[in-house]
Amino acid sequence: MSFLEYAPAPESRAIVALRPSYGLFIDGQWVDGHGEAFSTISPASEEKLAEIATADEHDVDLAVAAARRAYDRTWSRMSGADRGKYLFRIARLVQERARELAVAESLDNGKPIKESRDVDVPLVAAWFFYYAGWADKLDYAGLGANPRALGVAAQIIPWNFPLMMLAWKIAPALAAGNTVVLKPAETTPLTALLFAEIVQQAELPPGVVNIVTGAGPTGQALVRHPGVDKVAFTGSTAVGREIAKTVAGTHKKVTLELGGKAANIVFDDAPIDQAVEGIVNGIFFNQGHVCCAGSRLLVQENVHEEVVERLKQRMATLRLGDPLDKNTDIGAINSREQLDRIRALSDIGEQEGAERWSAPCEIPENGFWFAPTIFDNVSTSSTIAREEIFGPVLSVLTFRTPAEAITKANNTPYGLSAGIWSDKGSKILAVADKLRAGVVWANTFNRFDPASPFGGYKESGYGREGGRHGLAAYLKGESGAGATALVPAERSASQKRRRAGGAV
Ligand code: ADP
Repeated sequence: MSFLEYAPAPESRAIVALRPSYGLFIDGQWVDGHGEAFSTISPASEEKLAEIATADEHDVDLAVAAARRAYDRTWSRMSGADRGKYLFRIARLVQERARELAVAESLDNGKPIKESRDVDVPLVAAWFFYYAGWADKLDYAGLGANPRALGVAAQIIPWNFPLMMLAWKIAPALAAGNTVVLKPAETTPLTALLFAEIVQQAELPPGVVNIVTGAGPTGQALVRHPGVDKVAFTGSTAVGREIAKTVAGTHKKVTLELGGKAANIVFDDAPIDQAVEGIVNGIFFNQGHVCCAGSRLLVQENVHEEVVERLKQRMATLRLGDPLDKNTDIGAINSREQLDRIRALSDIGEQEGAERWSAPCEIPENGFWFAPTIFDNVSTSSTIAREEIFGPVLSVLTFRTPAEAITKANNTPYGLSAGIWSDKGSKILAVADKLRAGVVWANTFNRFDPASPFGGYKESGYGREGGRHGLAAYLKGESGAGATALVPAERSASQKRRRAGGAV
């Protein structure tokens, strides 16, 4: 070991006092689930962290009934200013318990502590602060005078940003006056359960927030439930499609935030070192478990070799290992199932003739790991250029002209995000204007802000989260205009320009 290497710097686990088992959080109380309990494990060590209840149909029924009572009797009658006070209280409690939440998130999800500590948890607090400010200003959200809440929202979230996705769902729903039943993903329920404690600490009226745990069948029961007025889902396109079918023809409003296969476009006039950092952040942040990950690198042909060479050098310095170590860049893959999928798709990449290169790193004995990997000479038609891998795997493609870059970038069934790297502002604006992606980052990547709407085109879903657009998904205006009123099919050129310039 060289003297230049980092000494271990593990964050202490002592700050998190996990209970051996968790029930469901319904009507302000912890209750037993009637389904079969399951374990949540640390993907870095495969150690069992806690026993988690499964909500069956009956439990889901109780949760929806509690949310309905809370909606009818308290939450929908409360002034926006008072709802805002509760949300501010939650935001402050998240800040007070930030370290504990970050450690719990890294334990349960496998993400590096520096990400959960510096990105996820601060954004969770920011989301609650932001929507707390909206609660008494709904008349000014652009939805007409006196917009109304929808009622009970069923919210189903994935495992890649467990607490952040919870905040993206719960904060706007409550600010708009809805009550919620939220189901976290089965591999990462812990921070949602700690959040239930925060709800109790904040003395929210019982039933305003209910947390039910379980896997797909619990989610299905929730989506199907006739007492639900709104379904908000983030997850795979396959499940999103199923949900859209289930709610079709009912009164339920739905927003779906699904998969992606984002292009990260590097022009030859880009500051290359900065672009390399952006490529790394785009695909290796959160082990690539990011729906807006920059998983397709489109690099201009004349700088291709240089970019790939520098990228490999940078990747060789990434430290993979214990998520709780403050020096770790790449944590664990969230589950064995996901690891199998990443391996299978990578094998297909090789079989289809792409050149595979993985960063040289030591893989720990236990747990689920995948070394940061790039595939060079990938063609547009190859599987790894089309399918979402949802792991630390980058496909490299080349282009010669901006027009070719745009065509290749848009050649995907998805349309969630994209990145552009160039020194020329006019080129960035011209290209951003033609990309069919909900978010376009310029000379940066994977940046989030509660004031900025986020969402997709095509198979990446519909509806927007964040900003006042995110509020629209939980309100109906007097005319009955609903969630989509603020989301035109095509953004105006001026809107796109604003976003391209100030990627938040
Ligand atoms: P991922 O590929 O990220 O695991 P999924 O779409 O499978 O995404 O899961 C996202 C969330 O949807 C999880 O909370 C999961 O339990 C839930 N879920 C899975 N299947 C269904 C379903 N058929 N109906 C509703 N929710 C589901």
